Amino acid sequence: MEYKIAVIKGDGIGPDIVDQALLVLNKIGEKYKHSFKYTEVLAGGAALDATNVPLPQETIDICKASDAVFLGAVGGHKWDVLPGHLRPEKALLGLREELGLFANIRPAIMYKELKDACPLKPEIVGDGMDMVVIRELTGGIYFGERGFKTNEKGDGAYDTMFYSEMEVRRIAIVAFETAMKRAKKLTSVDKANVLESSRLWRKVVLEVAEDYPEVEVKHMYVDNAAMQLVINPKQFDVIVTGNLFGDILSDEASMITGSIGMLPSASLGTTKLGMYEPIHGSAPDIAGQNKANPIATIVSAAMMLRYSFDLEKEADAIEKAVETILANGYRTGDIQTEGGILVGTKEMGQLICDAI
Ligand code: NAD
Repeated sequence: MEYKIAVIKGDGIGPDIVDQALLVLNKIGEKYKHSFKYTEVLAGGAALDATNVPLPQETIDICKASDAVFLGAVGGHKWDVLPGHLRPEKALLGLREELGLFANIRPAIMYKELKDACPLKPEIVGDGMDMVVIRELTGGIYFGERGFKTNEKGDGAYDTMFYSEMEVRRIAIVAFETAMKRAKKLTSVDKANVLESSRLWRKVVLEVAEDYPEVEVKHMYVDNAAMQLVINPKQFDVIVTGNLFGDILSDEASMITGSIGMLPSASLGTTKLGMYEPIHGSAPDIAGQNKANPIATIVSAAMMLRYSFDLEKEADAIEKAVETILANGYRTGDIQTEGGILVGTKEMGQLICDAI
């Protein structure tokens, strides 16, 4: 089979880590006889430098014509001075919107070999942790009406959190379907004690729950969820929440697992065309220095094989290779523990290829 992949290397460490993931994909292609056809496109800071816009139309067109989009990371200090509509991050919001990617799936898995990198006490995390945060991606406050206005308090600015029933229903269905394939435990996070949009969220989640009687559903306020994640993270299996709360909670969940450099994500819509990227940013502090951990990007490639191409055993092969390399003691700087063998980005990529 031939699969068309739009590749956005992006900024900062983006090219460092994507190059390693492509080597791993090539290795999978060689071993399992698939052909991955990459088309490199620009977005974020690199696109701003070349075309003066963060998301050129050509990028949108090529992404739409592909089977999947694979992204490193965008952004950097150089572009921080630009006005809101020209910021590199606008490219991500634009791509999600253009491709209709409303569900962000972020597994937060603590590898047992990296237990020491977890900032929580060992008795809290025990033998490991495995949860998935499902974040609504194209609604809520990041997409609501915004602007500047002056009232009796003086000059100010506002952003609006709006959710339609349709938007909540479709993300709730993704969450219940995910829970059905796991431990059948779903926590819906909102702020229904204060926000009208959260009360609507809760009502719709309860309606969808009627179609999934086997799933145990819990509702939790976001402030409590932030607390529960650090005092008892193992209570969670699948968490579903809105765009803003999900942005914050998924970063918190990922840090519990040890390093932001380990965790992948998938953004999905109603078709097989998904976008796959590590959860971390462009890490300008270590860009181009062969220091970035490529594992989050490499396991994002595994998610792409699984969700967009239905290549389950190929995805398993990548994940297994990562586990083997970790078990053999190889570490990039961000996950280095006592006795670990310190390697760079390229060496880590090569080790994973060899393990496949
Ligand atoms: P960041 O995730 O880039 O970096 C935070 C810290 O984690 C840094 O110390 C960095 O060195 C480290 N880190 C991140 N990824 C790593 C990896 N793979 N291996 C080893 N260490 C790693 O977050 P930030 O510093 O807040 O943001 C930097 C830039 O990235 C900003 O311009 C921001 O807007 C952008 N950003 C982009 C995305 C994205 O493209 N999806 C997401 C978040 C932030």
